Amino acid sequence: MTAIREPQGSGEPQGSAVRPATADERRPAVTAVGVGKTFATKAGDVVALTDVRLDVAAGEFVSLIGPSGCGKSTLLRLIADLDDTTTGTLEIFGKPARTARLDQDYGIAFQQAGLLPWRTVAGNIALPLELQSGGKVERAARVQELVELVGLSDFADRYPDQLSGGMQQRVAIARALASRPRLLLMDEPFGALDEMTREYLQGELTRIAGETGAAVVFVTHSIPEAVFLSDRVVVMSPRPGRITDVLPMGLGARRTEGLRESPEFFERVTAVREALHGTPVERANER
Ligand code: ADP
Ligand code: MG
Repeated sequence: MTAIREPQGSGEPQGSAVRPATADERRPAVTAVGVGKTFATKAGDVVALTDVRLDVAAGEFVSLIGPSGCGKSTLLRLIADLDDTTTGTLEIFGKPARTARLDQDYGIAFQQAGLLPWRTVAGNIALPLELQSGGKVERAARVQELVELVGLSDFADRYPDQLSGGMQQRVAIARALASRPRLLLMDEPFGALDEMTREYLQGELTRIAGETGAAVVFVTHSIPEAVFLSDRVVVMSPRPGRITDVLPMGLGARRTEGLRESPEFFERVTAVREALHGTPVERANER
């Protein structure tokens, strides 16, 4: 009888435990062509997005930036299949958004961590895993891996109200990563945090995205945040919401704190600011 042995160590970075990419997962994480969204309201139609064309490569970090009301959240919600497009086509790893949602191809994190208060850190992170098949032992091992990945090993048994806002957000990121998605969708996840925590978590997020190889679509209205995190920054303008610029950052794969004080960083911040100012921010707000 031949014993079937489990493979011994995959040589992948500790704590990430990424399975090899399937053919689907090497496809672009997001492909949007001619995407539009119109909301029918009592006061008439609201055109939230028009003619959005966007590709996000596997493993790429893309930020959406723009003034309030330009449709950033709407676009993220369409990608996440939380709402339907009015026009155009949207594919996630080459599949319709609905299929990608059912296949748990992406994880989501919002500004509010949205943790269940009666569950511990470990219990909250385990939640998506409980919706999948898989044994208790396997699940516990994955939760352990995830608490280590987000630096919360000593807090696995705490409850959300015993954690700082930054720690709660780290739990939310771990939960979003639980099913090993190759795409993370984040809507201002650090928006409610103080500046120091925010910068710290930005560094952590680039490390985690690098280790897991996940693509990220990240909504923010902070220019330095977008520059620090992103491979490309997508600039949007309101009424109707559309993409006006896509700026490659070209700052290399490794983000260190020193980057924030480098001339390259300031150059990119200026470039994004100018791209944003090219949009009719003030006029839109006056209306
Ligand atoms: P952002 O996230 O960039 O601030 P949103 O995507 O939330 O902007 O909103 C874009 C536009 O769509 C806004 O004018 C907003 O009022 C409108 N909108 C968003 N969701 C709805 C909805 N469910 N019903 C009607 N209008 C909406
Ligand atoms: Mg929003």
